[in-house]
Amino acid sequence: MSCEKRYEAIKAIAEAKASVQCEAVPADTHCYGEDVFNLAAMQKHLPKDVFKKLQATIERGEALDPTIAADVAHAMKEWAVSRGATSYTHWFQPLTGNTAEKHDSFLEPEGCHAIFSFSGNNLILGEPDASSFPSGGLRSTFEARGYTAWDPTSPAFIKRHGNGATLCIPTAFCSYTGEALDRKTPLLRSIQALSCATKKLMKCFGLPDEKVTITLGPEQEYFLIDKHFYLLRPDLLQTGRTLFGAPPAKHQQLEDHYFGTIKTRVLNFMNEVEKELWKLGIPAKTRHNEVAPAQFELAPVFEELNLACDHNMLVMEVLRQTADRYGFVCLMHEKPFAGVNGSGKHNNWSVNYGKRNLLNPGNDPDQNAIFLTTLCAIIEAVDLHADLIRSTVAGVGNDHRLGANEAPPAVISMYLGDQLADVIEQLEKGETKSSKHGGTLRIGVDTLPPLPQDATDRNRTSPFAFTGNKFEFRAPGSSQSCSGPNVILNTIIADSFERMAETLSTFPEHEFHSKLQEHLQKIIKAHKRIIFNGDGYASDWLKEAEKRGLPNFKTTTDALSVLVKEENIALFEKYGVFRRREMESRYEVFMEDYHYKVKIEGEIALEIAQSMIFPVVSAEYEKTIRSLNEAKSVSMKKGTESLRKRASLLGEKLDHLSQEEDFLAEALKGKHEEILNAMKNIRTTVDELEKIIPDNCWPLPKYREMLFIY
Ligand code: ADP
Ligand code: MG
Repeated sequence: MSCEKRYEAIKAIAEAKASVQCEAVPADTHCYGEDVFNLAAMQKHLPKDVFKKLQATIERGEALDPTIAADVAHAMKEWAVSRGATSYTHWFQPLTGNTAEKHDSFLEPEGCHAIFSFSGNNLILGEPDASSFPSGGLRSTFEARGYTAWDPTSPAFIKRHGNGATLCIPTAFCSYTGEALDRKTPLLRSIQALSCATKKLMKCFGLPDEKVTITLGPEQEYFLIDKHFYLLRPDLLQTGRTLFGAPPAKHQQLEDHYFGTIKTRVLNFMNEVEKELWKLGIPAKTRHNEVAPAQFELAPVFEELNLACDHNMLVMEVLRQTADRYGFVCLMHEKPFAGVNGSGKHNNWSVNYGKRNLLNPGNDPDQNAIFLTTLCAIIEAVDLHADLIRSTVAGVGNDHRLGANEAPPAVISMYLGDQLADVIEQLEKGETKSSKHGGTLRIGVDTLPPLPQDATDRNRTSPFAFTGNKFEFRAPGSSQSCSGPNVILNTIIADSFERMAETLSTFPEHEFHSKLQEHLQKIIKAHKRIIFNGDGYASDWLKEAEKRGLPNFKTTTDALSVLVKEENIALFEKYGVFRRREMESRYEVFMEDYHYKVKIEGEIALEIAQSMIFPVVSAEYEKTIRSLNEAKSVSMKKGTESLRKRASLLGEKLDHLSQEEDFLAEALKGKHEEILNAMKNIRTTVDELEKIIPDNCWPLPKYREMLFIY
């Protein structure tokens, strides 16, 4: 038995690489935002008064004024048609983790002719028959319809597929009783909650009313492998990760891929991705090779949170589709390959009041006080709700990544950097003498020592790190929507801000700063256990974290359970972010998602073992026995011992494989842990076999091929 498909794939890839086009494309920025119905396009296509009204709506973050809907819809359609669109869709984010769209053409038949038209009603409200989206029991099929409602704060855009183009209108997706069935609705609610709380807090500092803007810059990691290999791997096709595969001799030990020269074929792909993203007004900025072979990163310039979340969904889509056109497959799974780094999404988050970034230490006493207050409120929030933060990154893929010595552990802690930790320590002690690096601190009187960016960003092992003027939450998985983590961050921080504002508002003006200092001291004393500046990968840390009483939810099932704790439901209800039923339904949807994904992995693993691996091993065993018999029949002495040894090794492994197949088949009827355990065992045997079965007989593309030939 031989399996030439792998070799054919390698040959085809070599040919594709040899014919890679290296034609330089003209460099300009004209295309930026050309497929977005942004303010400039609105201004051009809308009557002046309508434009003004729409602009005000957007600025206030409100729903569209129905009296201008018809005009806006008409202008949007004219613009979209001029850019080649024939259809429109409400574009929304159901709980599947993907985006959803149902296209309708603009076509309106009029007798023998037809025109393109688009009404205000169609813009504002959609009614997709959405009974097949996960709702965790929020909708029964007799009330199957959900509705989608335009979110004007995220501009409409044009998506191009093949030879067509579609106008996409970002929408929220709710049930008829107003329950959120999507990821955008709670995000918008949480932005509202944090915005409100921030205003209250800033009022305590005597600041006038200003707009609150939460910003997000999500760094996106991904793998690229050649499509030829992908198509030969049922595990990748069905689960997004390799369920088998022996580690190659060389993987990432030499760290020679990180920031290395980008291969031409990949660079062409990246250029195309950037061009597509720029057209959509997505400010893709940074690109580089990541740590694992065949792993890369894309980072945009940060934007307003709601828009940044929508944009990240589009980034993932553009990466996948462009990869397809370039003969690659873009893997966004958190752990596609065992033994090398997995992929995450670094969630760079900050909150701004007017033009003031509250996480910017700044260098005047007022900004100092605001910065330290914000920081302490966040320290409190993260310590009080580490369990909720952990729950937002729970998922079948991330279970393989978190704590695997490449990504932060499942224990949530905060990194502040030496200088800031020193500042906090002094604040706690109530000392006003100079900090480690000079400068003194007394809130509102003296200034903080300047915090150079590089002094804050050395520790890559922390799940939640202060990095100069923002917090970087590093635990989210690469395939995840940014929405979930930020809904939780916004809400728990809103809660801390509210509490802080309540206390601060009781301080008499003449004692404000001294009282504030005392209050911050109290917060630090109560919550400093969450601060950890050491090596988050070290096993000592886990013991230390346990001593400190920090939660450690190792699996998705454990992590998700906190979503339905009474106190958490109460918290989200208080800020109007989730209703009880919405929390319960989310818990159900996420658990079910986990359950099915584990089961699918188990079934595919079993099928591969039985239908692809067992046959080649038994054929090899048989061949070896035959050779042994033939050698014996001509009374050969030399070589027979080696053949006997090999036959017995193969026989032993074959027995193991068969037993483990039975175990896995049995486990598939039982609990998740049993399935995962049985998969681990069968993988060990298959990976050992990969190293002894003749290379030309092995049916699955190997790690050294997938990760190095592209
Ligand atoms: P690193 O890899 O060192 O973390 P990158 O430059 O790759 O840095 O990514 C940093 C990300 O943080 C970028 O997306 C950047 O736009 C974003 N960012 C910078 N400042 C802010 C901010 N104030 N709020 C949110 N995100 C920010
Ligand atoms: Mg980063």
